[in-house]
Amino acid sequence: MLTIDGSFGEGGGQILRTSLALSLVTGKAFKLINLRANRTNPGLQQQHLTAVRAAATISDATVEGDARSSQTLVFEPGKVTPGTYEFDIGTAGSTTLVFQTILPPLMLCSEKSKLTFTGGTHNPHAPPFDYTNETYAPTLELFGPVVKLELGRLGFYPPGGGMFSAVINPVEKLKTVELIRRGKILRRSARSLLVRLSQRIGQKELDYVRNNMPDWGGGELRLDISDNAISSGNALTIQFECEYVTETFTAVGTRGLPAEKVAENAVGYARRYVESTGAVGEFLADQILIPFAMAGTGSYTADLISTHTETNIETVEKFLDVKITVTDEGTHHRVDVRS
Ligand code: ATP
Repeated sequence: MLTIDGSFGEGGGQILRTSLALSLVTGKAFKLINLRANRTNPGLQQQHLTAVRAAATISDATVEGDARSSQTLVFEPGKVTPGTYEFDIGTAGSTTLVFQTILPPLMLCSEKSKLTFTGGTHNPHAPPFDYTNETYAPTLELFGPVVKLELGRLGFYPPGGGMFSAVINPVEKLKTVELIRRGKILRRSARSLLVRLSQRIGQKELDYVRNNMPDWGGGELRLDISDNAISSGNALTIQFECEYVTETFTAVGTRGLPAEKVAENAVGYARRYVESTGAVGEFLADQILIPFAMAGTGSYTADLISTHTETNIETVEKFLDVKITVTDEGTHHRVDVRS
């Protein structure tokens, strides 16, 4: 059994999620100690616990230590069974992170799966639903599987209550992907999602985008007013539809955070992307590492390689027989995966 010290690198929840995903893909059991040791609330929180239980459910795994705040987990997977599953986090914890944990093995099954998740869909510091639907899932399709998502209800902190479903049409083997260039930017858009909040908030966010994004030109700016959530909520999404990839940068509004600050966060990600020549942004860079490594070979470029990505690289290399190298090429970083 692999023993992994969860305090290395960033020492956060990604070490757990990647370990679960690749344990299901490879059938390798693991023991994770010092789980999320570098976080202020170490150990398993509700989102992580749901990810562990989801991984166990789809693979009939044997699990020890799956309790709130537990800092040690033993996970021995059985056979992954595709099918229809529902997972409820019970809090506003990120549904998309639970989805990302169990998606990799379900992309490589013999039959399709239908998954439904309940919890948060727009969490700060996690992949928002729109990003997952419009950027993450389409990028995965480059590898062969077809992954279609549908939003049921938006879910914001604190009550959560959001819901989305995913249908996964798997393949036998992932294709090799070379995602080196984004190509021309075909379309730019920014939308401010508002649920039971003043339109002034959204207008301020969009004004900030117009005034602070270089070359915004005639990029579309739009208020997206919805009532489809059990609480109020806000998120600003800036999207670039490019020839070879669609990138989406989102900042989620939180109580007490001025609209300009929300916009500053999203614009910060978006500016870094347009000022670089990377095909993908910081977040997609850490999330597509798993399919690239599962394919065994492939390359991509990114505007930034975060400590999150570096930690993810180390975790991936513990499970899969691949060598991942990162090269600074000036205006972007290049990631090469080789078997
Ligand atoms: P924790 O230890 O609290 O569970 P963590 O350390 O894994 O969490 P983060 O480092 O904050 O959490 O990142 C979680 C994931 O969310 C990363 O894969 C990151 O790419 C993704 N993410 C964060 N913000 C965004 C965003 N705005 N858009 C897309 N993905 C995002």
